Amino acid sequence: MPETPAARRLFSAIRLPGGALAAIYLVFCILPLALALTALVAPLDPWERAGAALGLLGLAAMAVQFVTSGRFEAASGRLGIDKIMAFHKIAAWWVLLALILHPLLYVLPTWMDDPGRGWVRLQAYLTLPHYRSGIVALVALALLVLTSALRERLPVTYEVWRGSHIVFGVTAAVAGLHHALSTGRFSALGAVPALWWAVGAALLAVIATLYGWRWWRLHARPWRLKSVEKLADRMWELDIQPQAKTPQLPYHAGQFVWMTEGERRFPLFDHPFSIADSPRRPGLSLIIKEAGDFTNRIGELPLGTPIGIDGPYGEFALEEHPCDAVLLIAGGVGIAPIMGLLRDMVARGETRPVRLVYAAGQPENFACMDEIAAAEKTLDLKVMLLSEEGREGWPGEVGRLDHDRLRKLLGGLDPARTVALMCGPGGMVTSVSDALLDVGLPMRNVVYERFDYGGGAASRQDRRRSLAFACVGAALALAAALFAVV
Ligand SMILES: Cc1cc2nc3c(=O)[nH]c(=O)nc-3n(C[C@H](O)[C@H](O)[C@H](O)COP(=O)(O)OP(=O)(O)OC[C@H]3O[C@@H](n4cnc5c(N)ncnc54)[C@H](O)[C@@H]3O)c2cc1C
Repeated sequence: MPETPAARRLFSAIRLPGGALAAIYLVFCILPLALALTALVAPLDPWERAGAALGLLGLAAMAVQFVTSGRFEAASGRLGIDKIMAFHKIAAWWVLLALILHPLLYVLPTWMDDPGRGWVRLQAYLTLPHYRSGIVALVALALLVLTSALRERLPVTYEVWRGSHIVFGVTAAVAGLHHALSTGRFSALGAVPALWWAVGAALLAVIATLYGWRWWRLHARPWRLKSVEKLADRMWELDIQPQAKTPQLPYHAGQFVWMTEGERRFPLFDHPFSIADSPRRPGLSLIIKEAGDFTNRIGELPLGTPIGIDGPYGEFALEEHPCDAVLLIAGGVGIAPIMGLLRDMVARGETRPVRLVYAAGQPENFACMDEIAAAEKTLDLKVMLLSEEGREGWPGEVGRLDHDRLRKLLGGLDPARTVALMCGPGGMVTSVSDALLDVGLPMRNVVYERFDYGGGAASRQDRRRSLAFACVGAALALAAALFAVV
């Protein structure tokens, strides 16, 4: 987020809503087709034109994938990390499909006349040196998409997967641009080659920003670990303070940062963590649960460890959602951004009614209980603690968050004017977000963040979003079909 008030105003003006982002995406992907209509090429069969259209569209859509990776706030608009990553994943499949069909449609007319000749033509595309960069692009893209889809099942660490993601992505884009410029019929003349050169330059700028400028900035603005405290079973709270020349981070409560520890600053090694703090307090607090190689060491970090902070990111913040009442829902370590919101409400003296549900597996997994109890004294706050397993002396409820519990919590509030902010495990987020719609919250008032980008069951809101994405994909397919027949 920019640091001066003027830059912040400009920045929030360019954070576009989803519809505007979809329109920009469509215009950008269809632009090469529009420019190609002005190029003078020998007449082609409609199937060959469709093949060419998919190549042009696929390459443009592949370039956009670099800015929907969740690291560009302006490209994410007001969608939030969950939605932008969902788009990134779904769009990767249609880019792959378009680029697999691209050579196949070129040979289809020959194959329909004479399958033997069609097969020979396809073999020529696959083996002739002239087309090699296209094959390299296709193979890199297929590896990129498949290794992402199968990531959880691959025997490699997250960092190795992420490194390979960058290598495959850059290889696919560079080889794809080379293929278009060296063999493309529509990319040889007129404005299309200029567009591909501009896209190449823009990709260079994106890569330089992500892996050069941000890397440098992480070195130039160091933070340090001031304290580490154990909050609950395998859960730690880190207090991180800026070093002398590093400015405070301007953020909204609930947003997240990418963090590195030690001297390693390269973005490959950073991890996303929600800010469990109020922007009114200097420094940052992160609540971290042990989940693997990086987080398992977090409780042992020596005080004074240099920390790199890149951010803030995300839309999980109250500012974007006008309402009369707030329902906060945390599952497990999802308490991190929820504590950020709650601490900020206490610091601001929030006057609206606030309801908090905090669910965890066992009583020993609950964190920040004293602070939550203290907040009940200063805010109009009612808290429901939900443990999946009961224990002697457990003051909260036992079980899961269901419709009845939600209705009880919302008692006396107008669901239509209440905003729910929820962070927790995928399954909980899915079922509770559907239940919130059933008890009367409008879909736009149900805001959630998941801590992993992996798949899993989809909520009604996820399905509505997937339908919107499918419409964007269908619009691209329609543009390719129109290009084939004009
Ligand atoms: C927006 C967001 C906010 C988050 N906030 C918090 C928080 O406040 N507290 C908390 O404890 N956890 C949070 N997480 C989850 C946290 O980032 C992962 O648990 C952590 O990165 C795991 O790293 P690891 O090396 O210890 O585990 P690993 O065993 O390497 O990874 C476990 C899983 O965590 C995910 N993961 C690992 N590394 C990364 C990475 N660099 N980028 C993205 N995902 C990764 C992958 O899904 C992986 O399968 C958040 C995640 C996201 C996406």
